Amino acid sequence: MTKFPAVFPMNCFLVEEEDGLTLVDSTMSSVAVEVAEQARMLGKELRRIALTHAHGDHAGGVAGTRQRFPNVEVSISERDAPILAGDHSLRAGEPQTPVKGYFIKVDWKPDRTFNPGDRIGSLQVVAAPGHTPGHVAFLDVRDRALLAGDAFQTRAGIAVSGVLRPLFPFPAMATWDRPTALRTAIALREPKPSLLAVGHGDALLEPDGAMSRAIEVASRRFVKAS
Ligand SMILES: [Zn+2]
Repeated sequence: MTKFPAVFPMNCFLVEEEDGLTLVDSTMSSVAVEVAEQARMLGKELRRIALTHAHGDHAGGVAGTRQRFPNVEVSISERDAPILAGDHSLRAGEPQTPVKGYFIKVDWKPDRTFNPGDRIGSLQVVAAPGHTPGHVAFLDVRDRALLAGDAFQTRAGIAVSGVLRPLFPFPAMATWDRPTALRTAIALREPKPSLLAVGHGDALLEPDGAMSRAIEVASRRFVKAS
């Protein structure tokens, strides 16, 4: 589902499970109406909301959506949970670059935090730091679809998080640490995803070639910049 597709596309995704639906990301404002319609069509209930990272254009829709579906379990990575709560301090061993991007004030707490390797239904949590310190991707173990959040963008051309696309520069401007984002992009090719679905822009089928090209561009740019 996409909010503001023409101007500032923000995607979120419904993943179907036997026991109901998982919403991955939530855009900037409530997606309760859209989710309710899909849930009715599929004959399933919304059970979970899982966030790829703490930015406001991914977490902002949680409050309104949860109002309509009060029993959903909301989760985010253990590392991005404090960032969501407003604590942007960095941990020992992390690049000491300030966390960037758009944040909202949240009056709710996640019900659960997860770490890479954990499972949320059929979704495997994959470490994908760089855009934020605790950014993750979700790999659907059934069909290898990769929900990669802002680790890549495809709006205005595929790019690794941190590579500025002048026609849609926002994800790059909001990226915390570019070398980390590049290592993540390389690692996300490993599971050979069948589909790459991102926060901003269209999903790509058989994305390996496109991901490789984006990685090559990022490697050249980030080396030049550092
Ligand atoms: Zn973001």
